[in-house]
Amino acid sequence: MNSPFELGSVLIKGGRVVDPANGLDATADLLVLDGVIQAVGRLEAPAGCAVLSADGLVVAPGLVDMHVHLREPGYEYKEDIASGSRAAVAGGVTSMAAMPNTQPVTDDPSVVGYILERARAAGLARVFPVGAITKGLQGQFLTEMGLLLQAGCVAFSDDGRPVTDSGVMRRAMEYARMFGALIIQHAEEPSLTANGCMNEGLISSRLGLPGIPVESESVVVDRDLRLAALTASRYHVAHVSTGDAVQAVAQARNRQLAVSCEVTPHHFSLTDEAVLGYDTDAKMSPPLRNERDRLAVLEGLARGIITVIATDHAPHDEENKRLEFCHAANGVVGLETLLPVSLELVRDGVMTLADCLAAMSCNPARLLGIPHGTLGVGQAADIVLFDLEESWTVDARQLRSKSKNTCFHGRRVKGRVKRTLLAGKVVYDGV
Ligand SMILES: [Zn+2]
Repeated sequence: MNSPFELGSVLIKGGRVVDPANGLDATADLLVLDGVIQAVGRLEAPAGCAVLSADGLVVAPGLVDMHVHLREPGYEYKEDIASGSRAAVAGGVTSMAAMPNTQPVTDDPSVVGYILERARAAGLARVFPVGAITKGLQGQFLTEMGLLLQAGCVAFSDDGRPVTDSGVMRRAMEYARMFGALIIQHAEEPSLTANGCMNEGLISSRLGLPGIPVESESVVVDRDLRLAALTASRYHVAHVSTGDAVQAVAQARNRQLAVSCEVTPHHFSLTDEAVLGYDTDAKMSPPLRNERDRLAVLEGLARGIITVIATDHAPHDEENKRLEFCHAANGVVGLETLLPVSLELVRDGVMTLADCLAAMSCNPARLLGIPHGTLGVGQAADIVLFDLEESWTVDARQLRSKSKNTCFHGRRVKGRVKRTLLAGKVVYDGV
C-alpha cells in the first residue's frame, strides 16, 4: 500500500514560501494533493495527509535550468540522463533544458523521443530537449523545427557551437518565429577565438596562453540583435560573459525586442585569475573574463537585463580534462552548486532572494514556454526546500554527477538543499 506521501499528497508546513511568479514571500503552508498544488496559506492537513515540516527552511519552486548538457545519447561515460537527473534534484533543479550536442545530435524527432523516454525512466526531473538549429550542428541546413517542436522540443540551439553564417541565422530566426520558438545562440566568432583557450588579457599574457577577446562574443551578439530586429523573432544569448554583450542586450530590450540572456554561476562569481594555476576546471567556453566584465555581469543581473541564471552543466571525464590547458575540454559541471553560488548574489546585495530565485525558476520557464517554476495553485508540485544559512564546502568527490569537473571544489558556500519534490513526491532527501 502506498502512503499518501508516495502518492504525491503532503502538507508542507511552516516554511518561508518564496514564489516569485506570484509575488509571494511569506511564512505559509503549502498543500499538495495528487502531485498538484492545492492551496497556499495557513492550512490544516486533511485526514490521512502526510505533513512535512519546513521550519527554518525556504520553500521555493523547483529550479528550472535552461542550459544543461546531459551527454546522452552518445557520451554516457561523462553523464547520462539518470545521473544528470540525480545531480539535478540534489541541486534543487526539477526541470532542465537538454542541449542537443549529443551523438546523435538532437536534430531529429526520434532523438527527442529517446531523451524523453530516458528521462521518464529516470523519473527524477523533467527534461526538455532543445532541438538543433542546423542538421548535425553543421551550421548549414535548418532542422525541421515544426516536427521537433511536436516531438517535445522547447527551443533551438546549436550550443557548443555558434551559428556563424548570417544568412543561416536569419532563416533560422524567420522559421522559428512561425512557431513562436526561442533561438538560443552560443555567441562566439570562431575566427576571433582561433586557438585561444582563455580570456585575452593580462593573465593570458602572463601565462603565455593564447587568448579569446571579448569581441569574439560581442560581435556575434551585435549581429544577432540586428537579425532579431529584422525578423522580429525571440532570441536568447546563452552564457553571456562580457559587459559589451550585456550592454547590447540592454539596448535591444529598451527597443522592445524579444531578446534575453542568461549567465552562469561561474561567470558571475569567478574571473580569469582562476586560470593562474593552469587548472583545467577553470577552462570553459566562453572563458572566465576579467573583473571588469564580471562586475558588468553583476550589474546586468541587478538591473534585470540578465533575467536567467543557468548552469551550462557540462560534464567531462578526467581523460578529457587532465590535459595540457589548451588541449583540455571546455566546461564544468554546475547543477549541484547552482543554488548556493547564486545565493551569494543575495548576500552581496546584488539581487533580492525573490529575484534570484526568479532567474532560476519562472523566468527561464516563461522563455521555454513550460508551465513550471511556480508554486501557483493548480500547478505541478515541483518544490525545493532549502536552508538559506547552512554552510558547507563543495567537494568534487561528493557530486552525484558522473563527472567531477567543478570549478568550485573547496569553495565555502551557504545554502543547502534539504528536499526536492517532483509532482509532490520526494525525489531528493538531504535531511
Ligand atoms: Zn555554449
